[in-house]
Amino acid sequence: MGSLYLVGSKCFLNRIRPGLPNMARRAYTLDVCAELLRTQGFINGRWVSAASTFPVLDPATGKELVQVSDFGPREARDAVVAAHKAFHSWKCQTPKERSLLLRKWFDLVNQNKEDLAKLITAECGKPMKESLGEIAYSASFLEWFSEEARRVYGDIVSPAVKDRKILLLKQPVGVASIITPWNFPSAMITRKVAAALAVGCTVVVKPAEDTPLSALALAELAAQAGIPAGVVNVVPCSREKASAVGEVLCTDPLVAKVSFTGSTATGKILLKHAAETVKRVSMELGGHAPFIVFDSADVDKAVAGAMASKFRNSGQTCVCSNRFLVQQKIHDVFVEKLGRAMEAELRLGHGSDPATTQGPLINARAAEKVEHQIADAVSRGAVLLKGGKRLEGSFMQPTLLSSVTSDMLCMREETFGPLVPVMKFKTEEEALAIANASPVGLAGYFFSQDISQIWRVAEQLEVGMVGVNEGLISTAEASFGGVKQSGLGREGSKYGVDEYLEVKYVCIGGLAL
Ligand code: NAP
Repeated sequence: MGSLYLVGSKCFLNRIRPGLPNMARRAYTLDVCAELLRTQGFINGRWVSAASTFPVLDPATGKELVQVSDFGPREARDAVVAAHKAFHSWKCQTPKERSLLLRKWFDLVNQNKEDLAKLITAECGKPMKESLGEIAYSASFLEWFSEEARRVYGDIVSPAVKDRKILLLKQPVGVASIITPWNFPSAMITRKVAAALAVGCTVVVKPAEDTPLSALALAELAAQAGIPAGVVNVVPCSREKASAVGEVLCTDPLVAKVSFTGSTATGKILLKHAAETVKRVSMELGGHAPFIVFDSADVDKAVAGAMASKFRNSGQTCVCSNRFLVQQKIHDVFVEKLGRAMEAELRLGHGSDPATTQGPLINARAAEKVEHQIADAVSRGAVLLKGGKRLEGSFMQPTLLSSVTSDMLCMREETFGPLVPVMKFKTEEEALAIANASPVGLAGYFFSQDISQIWRVAEQLEVGMVGVNEGLISTAEASFGGVKQSGLGREGSKYGVDEYLEVKYVCIGGLAL
C-alpha cells in the first residue's frame, strides 16, 4: 500500500480504501503519467533534489503516497536568484509572446486534466468530479490572463502647463513570491502565477506541505509549454521548514512582491516579514461567510445554494458558508428540506470512488477542530439534527445543528469542515448586524426575492464578494478577495494584473508646442 512503481510511461500507486460505509475494502490503482508525478523541486528550469525528503499522504487513508524533496532557505534563495535573473529577459518579451506561452500552458493543462485531477484527489482528498472542476477553474486563469496580457494600458494625462506631456506607464514589479494553501492546490497557484507572468513578473512558488504534487505538475507543464527557465520556480518544503523558507521569500531584497493565500494568522506573520523591505503584498485570507435566508426566499433555491456553498471540498473552502441565518417564518421548512437534501445527496468515501461527494478532511487536526465546534455548540444548547460524528481517520459526518446562538465557537471562527450551524432571526437589521459582527469579510450569501431587500443587503454586507440567490460565485472574470482581516488586493478579473504592476509617472518637459 502506498507503493509507487513505474510501468512504461505510467506511474502506478496502490492503496486500500478506508472502511467507510459506502466503500469496499479493496485495492485500486491510480495511474498518472510519470512526467507529471514530480517529486523534486523546480529551480531555473531544472528538477533539483534536496538533502532530505518529506512524505505526501493520502488524507483518506493516512498512507504515504510519495516522498518529495524538502527544500530549505538555501534552495529558496537559489530560486529567488534564478527568478530575478529571468525577470530581466521575461519582462522584455512582448505581451503577445507571453500571452501565447500562457495559452500553450492552458492547452497542456486541459490535455492533461484527468491526470492533474487524480493528483488533487490523491493528495487533497477531493472527489474526482470536484478535482476535475478545480482543474477547469485552474486552467481558466491561464486562459483569462493570457488574454489580459495584451490589454495592459497606461495613460496619457492632460498636464496643467503647456510645455509638458504626462505619461503613466505600467511596469512589472519584479520577482513575486507565491505562497499557497492545500485546499485548491492547483487553482490558487494559477490565479496568482498567470497574472504575474502575463505582465512580465517571474515567480517562486511555495506550495503547502500537504499538496506539493499539483504544484510540481503545473511546473512541468509550464516547461513543456516553453516558458523560459527561471520564470516559474517551485520550492516544496515540509511544515517544519515553512517558516524559514517563508522568511526568505518575504524578506529577500530581490523579491518585490508577496502574494499569499491561506489563514489570517499566517498572513499576519508574512505581512510583518514583508514590511522589513516594504514589499508589495496581496493577501487572500480566511473567511467566515454568512448565508442568510429571508422569508421571501425561494426555499428550494436556498437549499440548493446551501448544499453547493457548504459541502464543496467537504466544507474546506475559504468562501464556504459558515454561519446560517434563517428568518423565523421560513426557518422550519428550510431546516427540514436541508436535512433531507443532506441525506439524499451526500456520500462519504475515498475521492476516487465515483459515488463519493464528501472526501476526508485534510488531516486529523482539521477533523478535531470540527468535532470541537460541534461539542461546544451542543454544550451551549444547540440541537444536533444530523451527523455529528467523526468516522475513521479525518472523515467527518456532514452535520446539521439548529438553535445556534452567537456565543458558540462555530459562529465566531471559520469551521473549514462539513458543519451547518443554523441560527434563527427576526428582522433584516438583526441579520445584517450578526453577519457584519466579524473581524473578517470574504464572501457572503443571501436568498431573497424582494428586489429592494436585494439592493439593501448586497450593499450593506461587509464582505468582498456577495452571492445573491447563488451559492457558487467564483469565476476568473470576477474579482476575488475580501475586506477587513480577510485580506488585501484582488485576484482574477481585469484587476488581477494590477497586483503585479507599478505605475511609473514620466514627465516630458520643455517641449516647444
Ligand atoms: P496556512 O496554514 O496559513 O497555510 C497556507 C500556506 O502558508 C501553506 O503553504 C503553509 O505551508 C504556509 N505557511 C504556514 N506557516 C507559514 C510561515 N510561518 N511562513 C511561511 N509560510 C507558511 O493555511 P491553511 O490552513 O493551510 O489553509 C486554509 C486557510 O486558507 C483558511 O483560513 C482559508 O480560509 C484560507 N484560504 C483563503 C483563500 C482566499 O482566497 N481568501 C483561499 C483558500 C484558502 P505548510 O502547508 O507547510 O504549513
